[in-house]
Amino acid sequence: MNQSESMEMSQQFASDNYSGICPEAWHSMEAANQGHVTSYGDDPWTTKASDAFRELFETECEVYFVFNGTAANSLALASLCQSYHGVICCDQSHVETDECGAPEFFSNGSKLLVAQSSDGKLSPQVIHELATKRNDIHYPKPRAVTLTQATETGRVYSLTELGAISAECKKHGLSLHMDGARFANACASLQCTPAEVTWKSGVDVLCFGGTKNGMAVGEAVLFFDRKLAADFDYRCKQAGQLASKMRFLSAPWVGMLESGAWIRNALHANSCAQYFAGKIAGIPEVRVAGPVEANAVFLDAPEALLNRIRERGWKFYTFIGGAARIMFSWDTDLARVDAFCNDLRECSVEVQKNS
Ligand SMILES: *Cc1c(COP(=O)(O)O)cnc(C)c1O
Repeated sequence: MNQSESMEMSQQFASDNYSGICPEAWHSMEAANQGHVTSYGDDPWTTKASDAFRELFETECEVYFVFNGTAANSLALASLCQSYHGVICCDQSHVETDECGAPEFFSNGSKLLVAQSSDGKLSPQVIHELATKRNDIHYPKPRAVTLTQATETGRVYSLTELGAISAECKKHGLSLHMDGARFANACASLQCTPAEVTWKSGVDVLCFGGTKNGMAVGEAVLFFDRKLAADFDYRCKQAGQLASKMRFLSAPWVGMLESGAWIRNALHANSCAQYFAGKIAGIPEVRVAGPVEANAVFLDAPEALLNRIRERGWKFYTFIGGAARIMFSWDTDLARVDAFCNDLRECSVEVQKNS
């Protein structure tokens, strides 16, 4: 057994970050690994990647590269706010549930104003409610809205929904930030251009996720309202997010964007989710919870059945509303999806017999 065989496990569907690096990102990393170039982003790969973003988004946006999504979101939100401001977000959003207070920390105290939601989405109504709830000096002043596209619940905002949200933001003088850890999956689902899903729909700042899209590491922060990017490089540096060998954060994007891998990877992951949802239809006691719009499928199933499927070696999370989250990535193997479906079916029969 060689070393890599002993280290890897069979494909799992617990998260899209269980996957490795796609060939396009890998080849660009390799190509960037030639000789010496200048450091801290003053290099040809970083210029090329930034230009590739401007071409893809059809606009002269400001582009920055950071290591992960928590930093991208937190620093982007910090650049929209003063410490006494508030950021409207959804109760199921990553910034609220999974960033360990980083948005508040990096903004020196801007408070997340959390909207309750049944489906993980914000609406103009809840934004209106939170933006107008208080206007006295004792409450943080609402200044920004953050939404996730595609959402943590596997949903996608339509262009109509985005337009309505951005109109509401404008009414209240709120900037609009998009957490796009799965932005590519949203574009693939909507079959819309990145420009349509962002600045043409009123988004001011996008955090475009590379990691879950097939890169080793790295997210890009795109400012469509370029004034908001003032001193963003200093924020990145202070937060420990300025890569000295920046070319290795930026080069993979060149491969992803120029080859179209970013959208191909997302289309594949999304279609695996559709395939899976279709394939498990009719399994007793297993129900797909909510519409499947991106690369996640949520399953409602009895605890006994979920335990049994775990005993067969399958991994998945149930941290969002109790449903089992099944996620697909750029390299999902349909044979492995079939194996999971068969185990689900068999376990469902076993559980029914025992009850
Ligand atoms: C994965 C993810 C992020 C980024 O998380 P990091 O672990 O900090 O890279 C951000 N937002 C959402 C919705 C995510 O799923």
